[in-house]
Amino acid sequence: MSIQLLSDVLIAQIAAGEVVERPASVIKELVENALDAGAGSVHVSVKGGGRTLIRVSDDGHGIMAEQVELAFARHATSKIKAIDDLERIMTLGFRGEALSSIASVSRTTITTRHREQQTGTQLRIEGGDVAHHQAIGAPAGTVISVENLFYNTPARLKFLKTESTEKRHITALITRYAMAYPHVRFTLEQDGREAIRTTGSGELSDVIVQVLGLDNFKHLLPVEAQHVDVPQVSVRGYTGSAELHRADRNQITLFVNGRWISDSKLLYAVVQAYQGILRDGRYPVAVLMVEISPDEVDVNVHPTKAEVRFRDANAVFKTIQRGVREAIIASGGRPDIRSSSSGHQAGEWGRSSGWREPSRDVSQPEIGLQVGDDGRLPQPYINRNTYSEEEIAVPDGAGQPIRPRTLPPLRVVGQVAATYIIAEGPAGLYLIDQHAAHQRVLYEQLVDGDFEMTALPAPQTVELTPAQARLIDAQIDLFNENGCEIAPFGGHTFQVRALPEMALTADPLDLLRAIAEDMRGRSALEALRLCISGYGAVKAGQTLSQDDMQAIVRRLERAHEPLKDPLDRPTLLHMTGDQLARQFGR
Ligand code: ADP
Ligand code: MG
Repeated sequence: MSIQLLSDVLIAQIAAGEVVERPASVIKELVENALDAGAGSVHVSVKGGGRTLIRVSDDGHGIMAEQVELAFARHATSKIKAIDDLERIMTLGFRGEALSSIASVSRTTITTRHREQQTGTQLRIEGGDVAHHQAIGAPAGTVISVENLFYNTPARLKFLKTESTEKRHITALITRYAMAYPHVRFTLEQDGREAIRTTGSGELSDVIVQVLGLDNFKHLLPVEAQHVDVPQVSVRGYTGSAELHRADRNQITLFVNGRWISDSKLLYAVVQAYQGILRDGRYPVAVLMVEISPDEVDVNVHPTKAEVRFRDANAVFKTIQRGVREAIIASGGRPDIRSSSSGHQAGEWGRSSGWREPSRDVSQPEIGLQVGDDGRLPQPYINRNTYSEEEIAVPDGAGQPIRPRTLPPLRVVGQVAATYIIAEGPAGLYLIDQHAAHQRVLYEQLVDGDFEMTALPAPQTVELTPAQARLIDAQIDLFNENGCEIAPFGGHTFQVRALPEMALTADPLDLLRAIAEDMRGRSALEALRLCISGYGAVKAGQTLSQDDMQAIVRRLERAHEPLKDPLDRPTLLHMTGDQLARQFGR
């Protein structure tokens, strides 16, 4: 064969081999273009794992009518003019290769209208050749549809994995971009079914709840670190607690200046931070955003732009490692393998318990219940209707470490049926059972020893049945060690002198009887904690002020197990924006 220059289309097809490896890489390029165009919402719709159809719509600035064809020319970009521009690059794209590559290996249609123009443009390109070009009415923004990907490159088509594998790659990709761009609304639809929807609220915690679910949120520790030397590097995001681990590194996501990168050295910085915390062969889950001055990083290393080179790689490595390590330590995780299995376990008593809530018809005086931020009731009332004259000092928690967050911040909207707290937060609406939530909070204070034993204004004498008295008598030391000063008082009678402060709202007779009854089904200590937290917690049917509710919710947000009460019943129901929209047929 004699030497010939390759045709433009063939050049583009060869280049496409580097840029578009699979459907997910097409989507990556199109989503990056949408983000570069300043989109506030990006909608991705996929059929057949991306082989049949990929459509990415955005509400970015769009392309000028006279430039649409140029956008599909090889090496055509609006993002850089000179090589120096790369040192200040703020956009994700700059190589001008994606659109031409994609169009050369598929049937691509673009419909776009620039914000400052009245009329839009539609262009259809088949295997790199313009098949159709027309003016068209369209909303500002850009829609690019890619059909029959790799139809003219059979070799590439052969290497595609099964549809479900490609679908998984696509979902993982959009998940990552949604986390890196929380102010952008993302939706992903696969074969007509919505797989991802984020609200674009700007909060990373929102997106995490939306894409990873509320259950996982509690295992994610906030990371915030800075390297103050030159170059200034900062890292923020979330990293998993010792309880959250995987068999591979695929759940560690790193973005550098908004660009998703895979850099084995930086991944190692995350993994290494877990040394002594995770067993060998287990890897953490993390989402970390690294910010660094653009002139400190070379992004032009690889056609897919998934690799970068740092001028001072060490500074970046250290900042990541330190940020992650600090997050783990702040959460109470110690560099000790045992700590990964010694977490607080709620729900170990199962559902078979005979515990019942204190009866609901107990008339509760409606006081402006001042539940402190620590979930306690500072103004105790005794025997349901006599108020203590003295204010009992509530420790302000000074000196105690702040517990890690296990729920995203929730804003209390109101109360329904004097029983449930309505709150709004990431990804929708939360309906909280006020009693269950408060009991969870108080229960954990008892477990953690985070409570004050408080003298009753006057010792109370309590008479039990002989069987109850026997049970209590046998455990009197345990009670005294756990915040309840109780002494035998002759016969089946006991004198109650002091209780954990949270239990001062209860009638000591009711409380002691309930504990004795409960001890038949479980250990004395469990019975004690369940009853004290149950009696101490606000009741269903009790009207609460906004501050009371917010205080309970604030504490719940930092409970070890915020989603269950001590008997494993749910404390809250979560309705995602999505579910609401579906219910309303929106
Ligand atoms: P690059 O992103 O590297 O510049 P591309 O081939 O991805 O190269 O895109 C070429 C050009 O087309 C971009 O520089 C941009 O001007 C324009 N473009 C592509 N997609 C969009 C979009 N969604 N909105 C606005 N402009 C776009
Ligand atoms: Mg691009």
